[in-house]
Amino acid sequence: MPLEKVAGLPLPALFLLAMSAHLNLLPDSLRQLFIGKNTLEVARILADVFVSRFGECWGNREDILKALLPKGRASTWSELDKQINVFGKKLYGKHNEPAEENSPEIGLLDEVRFILQDLPQRQDYKLPEGKEEYPPEEAGFHFVLCSLCWRSVVRRPLEKRTPLCHTHDLPSSSPAYRRRARMKPQVEVARLRIEKTLSGLWGMSRGQGVENYLQDLCLSPLGSLPYLAKYLHSLGCPPLALPLSTGRDILEALEYPVYWDKISSRTREAWDCYLSDRSQHFRLNYVKIITAEAWLGVEGKYQHGGKRR
Ligand SMILES: [Zn+2]
Repeated sequence: MPLEKVAGLPLPALFLLAMSAHLNLLPDSLRQLFIGKNTLEVARILADVFVSRFGECWGNREDILKALLPKGRASTWSELDKQINVFGKKLYGKHNEPAEENSPEIGLLDEVRFILQDLPQRQDYKLPEGKEEYPPEEAGFHFVLCSLCWRSVVRRPLEKRTPLCHTHDLPSSSPAYRRRARMKPQVEVARLRIEKTLSGLWGMSRGQGVENYLQDLCLSPLGSLPYLAKYLHSLGCPPLALPLSTGRDILEALEYPVYWDKISSRTREAWDCYLSDRSQHFRLNYVKIITAEAWLGVEGKYQHGGKRR
């Protein structure tokens, strides 16, 4: 790895990059490299790590950077996430030896998408301009969590309004809205606590190991996510009336209820794209999962403990 080419990185980052030439960088070290960076800086680091690990058979550093950020400047996190996904898909069809689905190249890209979901204090540097709607295949990458639970909400470009799912799309003056708004500080405390409990996940081996571990965790009543497991099992009987076994089942249960009859065919297409991506790469649901556990735990306490302020 020619370190002299890695301009602008602080010394600890350079040290980690030097290590990566000889060792496979652990997810936690990769995460440390990304903390505090914008999308352009993260894309540069990813291009460096990619080339140092796999050589230039998929393109040099500049080619990969261009694939990750075609406009050559910092963008939104959802845009970077989409481009990493698109780059991974292109690897299948390139050269005579396409990357296998479980190849180390795809493994690294998946890992980075996973890490980006939960970077502390991440900010969007630039909002997309000039579009009233994302095309459906792009809209699936612009979902955010409801402000009052863990369900996903479709977003439009430059949308300012508070994201609220169908269940919580209430006037902010309504008692139900205000009650949930009051729960939010406790949910945040619970979320941080759960995140700490699961911090070992960052150090786990890549690929299927983490995917299966996280899926099992969602369904294990005696595991680290007991409220979520109980909730999902309650959905596994009616109303969803199916045993939850695959990542897709779990994800659809987490999103329940989505009122399919009330959304346009365009929005439905965006949902299809979102659900298919997130069930194929299940650990991208990590933030949703721990947020759900936190909300469900706090909801339980509110029901049993009355209206404590
Ligand atoms: Zn909601």
